[in-house]
Amino acid sequence: MSALDGRTAIVTGASRGIGRGIAERLAADGALVAVHFGSNEAAARETVEIIEEAGGRAFAFRADLAEPDAVDTFYAALEAGLAEQGAGPEFDILVNNAAGSGSGRIHQLTSEVFDRLFAVNVKAPLFLVQRGLDRLRDGGRIVNISSLVTKNAFPDSVTYAMTKGAVDTMTLALAKELGPRGITVNAVAPGFVATDMNARRRTTPEATAALAALSVFNRLGTPADIADVVGFLVSDDARWITGQYVDASGGSAL
Ligand code: NAP
Repeated sequence: MSALDGRTAIVTGASRGIGRGIAERLAADGALVAVHFGSNEAAARETVEIIEEAGGRAFAFRADLAEPDAVDTFYAALEAGLAEQGAGPEFDILVNNAAGSGSGRIHQLTSEVFDRLFAVNVKAPLFLVQRGLDRLRDGGRIVNISSLVTKNAFPDSVTYAMTKGAVDTMTLALAKELGPRGITVNAVAPGFVATDMNARRRTTPEATAALAALSVFNRLGTPADIADVVGFLVSDDARWITGQYVDASGGSAL
């Protein structure tokens, strides 16, 4: 029997990058995985195909988390997808991974970008939890994907960093709120991971090498590096860990 047999996991932003890696890992551990995406349906289908080819179970569903009715759309599409799989609306694991980035330095910032990043990175995860509380089973797991930028100054993208600070604060408060139900809530904080999010910073070998050198292991992180940490936190073995900020940056900025 696998660690997550019989469990249902939702991974937001699982069409690409770290979210895809997390979806693959949780499916390999036996969960039925709901692969959420915002607009890139082809990529989400590819995530599902990769999981199915490996013998796992998954389906894709869409909700643009920047839209005002994001939470309604999200749960309607999720429920429809679960019903197609013959499953009820309940779930065991929510990984809040989807996020936007690229707010720029303080002088580049616009009000529109600020509002969009806070809508996708902060408002959406908080209200997804609020609306999901009566479907999330006791003993369940919430993992919020944060970032090293909440502990190490990152003026390159000040608003993005602020949104991740809010994610850490949300993690702490919800861990206390949901503890009596046996639900753990933790944040996982990657450093630089090679995904579309930072492709613009890796346009030359020198720039890529400089990012790699931030880690004591002298390489960029991979989605699997982060997914394996999430895989542990959602397992029964991590039942005594909650409200924590788990650095998964490969020893960046030690
Ligand atoms: P990514 O490759 O850019 O993928 C972003 C994912 O989020 C995609 O699945 C995308 O869906 C979804 N998404 C973005 N905006 C959305 C919206 N408005 N509505 C719904 N879905 C939306 O990002 P990543 O690098 O894997 O990042 C994943 C998480 O790790 C994020 O929380 C990020 O802040 C965090 N993180 C990343 C790094 C890094 O170096 N990569 C470092 C620290 C923290 P579509 O495919 O449909 O667009």
